[in-house]
Amino acid sequence: MVQSRVALVTGANRGIGLEVCRQLAVRRYRVILTARDGSKAEAAARMLRAAGDLDVQHARLDVADPQSIRTLVDELAERSENVDVLVNNAAILLGEDQAVLDVPVDELRRTFETNVFGAVGVAHAFVPGMVERRFGRVVNVSSEAGQLASMRTYAPAYAMSKAALNAFTVQLGEATRGTGVLVNSACPGWVRTDMGGPGASRSVEEGADTIVWLATLSSRGPTAGFFSDRRAIPW
Ligand code: NAP
Repeated sequence: MVQSRVALVTGANRGIGLEVCRQLAVRRYRVILTARDGSKAEAAARMLRAAGDLDVQHARLDVADPQSIRTLVDELAERSENVDVLVNNAAILLGEDQAVLDVPVDELRRTFETNVFGAVGVAHAFVPGMVERRFGRVVNVSSEAGQLASMRTYAPAYAMSKAALNAFTVQLGEATRGTGVLVNSACPGWVRTDMGGPGASRSVEEGADTIVWLATLSSRGPTAGFFSDRRAIPW
């Protein structure tokens, strides 16, 4: 029997991350749904399994806590579980309406801890194994807010963090080019979640689409790119 690919999704107890887990599991991936609150991860995984014959495991992962990343790496090593697909989805949005000069440096630091260093830390933990096994997909869930081409004054801390995350996509994508690992940024659009609010234009199903497409790319797929609606967009 062909072994299912294993996909790990961060910040997946709700919102887009949860829907990405569902869509990957429907595509017969073995999913590790992670959340910073272990009991929320467990409840979300149980809910997805109850909805169908889906292979969804759960694990605790606070991406802003290096010890939490190390603990998960050890747990997965003990279970001989390799990660083939990593979706860096976890993020926070602080001070959406603040002017850049009013953003306390500490708030900027907190935002970067999750949205940038968190994604980098989790990639450090799992990408070397992907390179070794000559297969991997990394999707950094970014935002149009981080697009330098159109950036103005919206949500300075968040926007700067997503621009930095995009830079990480380019660095990691280029560093792993030709190894079987494909690394891309995805913009889900404006999605009805706690972050996007009830007035957003897209459902979580629509928001997850490009992320899942990038997570399931064939070996001929792109790397080091930024995508929205399955199309390349400017950085
Ligand atoms: P959401 O509903 O606010 O969910 C965010 C998720 O991230 C939650 O599960 C949250 O966990 C988790 N999280 C936050 N800090 C974490 C940490 N340190 N460790 C682990 N998990 C953490 O947001 P969403 O709308 O689903 O957003 C998902 C992704 O899409 C984010 O990267 C976001 O920037 C991006 N995005 C969203 C939109 C939109 O319109 N919604 C637009 C563009 C981009 P808790 O439940 O524990 O807080």
